[in-house]
Amino acid sequence: ARKKSPRKARGFYKPDLFRTMKETMLSEMNLRRGLDFNEFRLFYQPQVDCLTGKVLGFEGLIRWQHPERGLIAPGDFIELAESTGLIIPIGEWVIQEAFSQLAVWEKLGRGHLTISINLSPRHFLHTKLPAFLMECANNKGIEPQKLKLEITENVALEDHVAVNKRINQLSEMGFPVSIDDFGTGYSAFIYLQHFPVQQIKIDRQFVRTVDVDPKSEIIIKSIVQLAQMLGLQTVAEGVENEEQWKRLQAMGCDEIQGFYFSKPLPAEEIHRFFASSEELLLPMPKGAKN
Ligand code: C2E
Ligand code: MG
Ligand code: MG
Ligand code: MG
Repeated sequence: ARKKSPRKARGFYKPDLFRTMKETMLSEMNLRRGLDFNEFRLFYQPQVDCLTGKVLGFEGLIRWQHPERGLIAPGDFIELAESTGLIIPIGEWVIQEAFSQLAVWEKLGRGHLTISINLSPRHFLHTKLPAFLMECANNKGIEPQKLKLEITENVALEDHVAVNKRINQLSEMGFPVSIDDFGTGYSAFIYLQHFPVQQIKIDRQFVRTVDVDPKSEIIIKSIVQLAQMLGLQTVAEGVENEEQWKRLQAMGCDEIQGFYFSKPLPAEEIHRFFASSEELLLPMPKGAKN
């Protein structure tokens, strides 16, 4: 819900100008057609070791490459996909794409890299999810540990018993589960109390002001300490400048992600970067506008 400004900043189409068009275009039928015509793309944003600056992996973020409209941000179609149920085939496409990419990277000698994908609440609780994940992992010969699954706090609004069972099941299969946008939902602590997750992602809202607002710093510091005491990894999202990175480093945050290092990029650009560097170290190229 907080994704309006970055979309504008990155030159996606202006929603106001095309409101009517948008309502006609972003219909269920169009989404289905987009899926059939293979119009979705997974972009990759580096996740960096906060201490060493080494790239550990990437978050996979979906875009819709529309033939007339150009690149459409997930904020403009994920909700529709959820409500129509198309999020299941779209999510399955994301899973397949991520495993294919992991297999390609392994061939390029980058087998240590991970991909973190976003799963909608509906897909997360879908009966076929565990079997589908396992099948894809086996087909590509990739260890489940390489694919991290991000869920948001909305998931916790669903049946706690079912969510708990599912997280346990996926963890036992070897898929790390991560809480996205941590700290923005009212049920954040429920996760830590009941659900066996491996990682929490500190929301951009706190990170954005960590260099100027002492309160943000205090909040992040306590999230990091809490995570450390519970044995969980922390990832800060939305790092946009060096000062923010340095503060997070001083606080003992494990990983960082943000425009300071790189915007989400198509796989080809990530490969170009691989080709030019022995080890993936900061700074990543700021990369193309999307
Ligand atoms: P998210 O998972 O919290 O992803 C982070 C968002 O913040 C991404 O927006 C990313 O481009 C943006 N971002 C990263 N670093 C910075 C920064 O330094 N500054 C600013 N201003 N923004 C930054 P994006 O790609 O538009 O995705 C928005 C949301 O859409 C995601 O939030 C996620 O909840 C959802 N989403 C993305 N891909 C998928 C997907 O494949 N499936 C599902 N179900 N949801 C997805
Ligand atoms: Mg995410
Ligand atoms: Mg996030
Ligand atoms: Mg989010």
